[in-house]
Amino acid sequence: MTKYLIIGGGAAGTEAALELRRRSQSAEIVLLSEEEVLPYRRPNLTRTLCGETVPDSQFYQKPELFYTENRIDLKLGERALEIDRSSAAVKTSSGAVFHYDRLLLAAGASARTLPVPGGALPHVFKGRTLRDFTSLETFIAGKDGLSAVVIGGGLLGLEFAEGLLCRNIRVTVVEAFPTPMPKQLDCRGAGIFSAMLTARNGLTARYGRCVKNIGVDAVTLDNGEIIGADVVIWSVGAAPNTALASYSGLAVKRGIVTDRFMRTGDPAVFAAGDCAEANGCVTGLWNPAKEQGRVAAVNMSGGAEEYSAGFQAARFVGFGTRMYSAGLVGLEGDGVVTEYGGDGVKTYSALTSRNGKLVGILLLGDVSSALQLERRLDFSE
Ligand SMILES: Cc1cc2nc3c(=O)[nH]c(=O)nc-3n(C[C@H](O)[C@H](O)[C@H](O)COP(=O)(O)OP(=O)(O)OC[C@H]3O[C@@H](n4cnc5c(N)ncnc54)[C@H](O)[C@@H]3O)c2cc1C
Repeated sequence: MTKYLIIGGGAAGTEAALELRRRSQSAEIVLLSEEEVLPYRRPNLTRTLCGETVPDSQFYQKPELFYTENRIDLKLGERALEIDRSSAAVKTSSGAVFHYDRLLLAAGASARTLPVPGGALPHVFKGRTLRDFTSLETFIAGKDGLSAVVIGGGLLGLEFAEGLLCRNIRVTVVEAFPTPMPKQLDCRGAGIFSAMLTARNGLTARYGRCVKNIGVDAVTLDNGEIIGADVVIWSVGAAPNTALASYSGLAVKRGIVTDRFMRTGDPAVFAAGDCAEANGCVTGLWNPAKEQGRVAAVNMSGGAEEYSAGFQAARFVGFGTRMYSAGLVGLEGDGVVTEYGGDGVKTYSALTSRNGKLVGILLLGDVSSALQLERRLDFSE
């Protein structure tokens, strides 16, 4: 009976467990998760900050019964501490030792922070886990007139900002780039979007600025400006969890290095999801993590399937607008601005082509054509 051990109960780990069971009824499947709750869909966390009630059926990846019925031995609150590849064993926080024939590293990523004085004060929060969000909720509960600084004006930082505004908290977003959502917007789209942000009551933004110090009630920027902050949120990206892999001698660059089959340099060890650098790329997104978990499981159980990256799409809803961005978004900002709805609300669309083929879509405001355009994306050479 083959023993499969998976470290990490996120998108990649849970999908891998499911695929392993699909492919073998007799295999032993153990899924270790350091979090103490059932594996959940991480993107829902910012939805709950906006006060939205997400039913359990949508919040959790699978109900508890699913793991029992599929004989997936889910060990919650069990952190893998050390991998001994010579004896194919993993030691965990409870003192247990798990042996494996095939091991999947699906440990995800951790919220990145910057080495700024005061960066770990009690009113400074990260936004990666349910525990992070519960701590934030507990901190703001029942307090009026709060102000917050969100460090990072990317997609997630702006979701935080929107969530905090919904809770009547005044927000300043501090972004090191000269524009918001630098990965998704071109310069013209960013200009239109910035205008929408600043029109939102309670929100201000500082672009091209960094936080130099965090104090108990204010942050100081690199130009000396002091901004009042009862709450500070780190939203400066995620760092792949690679320590277990590198201590066990596996190759690590930005993430745990794998080939297109999600194999590391050790034929018994695979990696998938946010912790993995598959064929030179760390994706940091939900659907690719799931797909990598599935592909890893296929190959762990004797198959031969390559992971194909495809394009990455990002969506944002907030500040009275919608944004859809996929593929290669040009820097020039040569899209088309129109008005829709008859109330002066702007919509912006920029389509990027290469050799006559559509390779990038940016829509702001009216995103109703996103799916239709998405079907036309063509990255073939
Ligand atoms: C707030 C938020 C919103 C997001 N919104 C979107 C979105 O809208 N769209 C999108 O595509 N992506 C979104 N993402 C990114 C997406 O959630 C991730 O890409 C995805 O969760 C990656 O899945 P994963 O399985 O690789 O890792 P994770 O989901 O990080 O899961 C890894 C799990 O492994 C556990 N673990 C780590 N180390 C150990 C260990 N040593 N022992 C045992 N367990 C361990 C971790 O605690 C974690 O539970 C969002 C992320 C966040 C934080």
